[in-house]
Amino acid sequence: MIRLRTEAFTVNSIPLIKQGDDLTDFLRDVVLQDGDIVVIASTIVSKAEGLMRSLESFTPSERARRIAAGLQEDPRFIEAVLGQSTEILIEKPFLLVESKFGQVCVNAGLDRSNVEEGFVLLLPDDPSQSAWRIRTRINERYGKNVAVIITDTCGRSFREGQTGVGIGFAGIASMKDWRGTKDLEGKTLEITNEGVGDEIAGLANLMMGEGAGGTPIVIVRGITYEDCECKVFRSKETDVIRKAINDANKQGHA
Ligand code: GDP
Ligand code: MN
Ligand code: MN
Repeated sequence: MIRLRTEAFTVNSIPLIKQGDDLTDFLRDVVLQDGDIVVIASTIVSKAEGLMRSLESFTPSERARRIAAGLQEDPRFIEAVLGQSTEILIEKPFLLVESKFGQVCVNAGLDRSNVEEGFVLLLPDDPSQSAWRIRTRINERYGKNVAVIITDTCGRSFREGQTGVGIGFAGIASMKDWRGTKDLEGKTLEITNEGVGDEIAGLANLMMGEGAGGTPIVIVRGITYEDCECKVFRSKETDVIRKAINDANKQGHA
């Protein structure tokens, strides 16, 4: 007997997204159900929010030129990245920063793939706010109570291979806290706070693909989840890896 079954499907026939597009239009032919998780690639959220920028619109600072030279990168692109960053963690061999909304990632998540040549696509200023806006709009238009996750494809420390992660959440807790529950042996779990938001994002991202698939929206159905908000980015103060990087940087500059 099956105890659990999850269904996930792509939404087809989505055109190239332009500034001002209402992404909920493309759910018109989907028969949504309460509890569905609507997973959307950040790329199209950014396009709809008008976050495409011409590289020509960036005038590289001295700092951007210096970092770009070390990376053999376009200084205008580096300037765009610095404009979206609140802290630089690593400058070489890749530019690792904290983005404005608190995610530590390479190039502040700025994309040039699936983006016209000579342009760069910024991430939404506050992806969770974008997710809430879309969730509310789905509810207004289709009368369904869904969760929304906005994803991006990111590299991972210590592991090869990029995977999908959630960068914005609405109506779904990004964590599932197992602490205080019992394992099969009756022992109490003390540590496990499962990042379910990223696990769902990973499944959806797998179905989206990374290239020309044109499938930036995936509906995930049949997973139960909580709808409280919880933070997904570690705080600076408690992140020991980040502290180690900062300490190494300080020593390097001493
Ligand atoms: P990211 O992971 O959010 O950075 O986005 P990707 O560039 O990996 O694209 C994820 C999915 O969205 C892929 O299936 C792309 O083909 C698709 N995609 C990206 N932009 C568009 C668009 O404007 N329209 C459509 N239909 N698909 C897009
Ligand atoms: Mn991306
Ligand atoms: Mn991707």
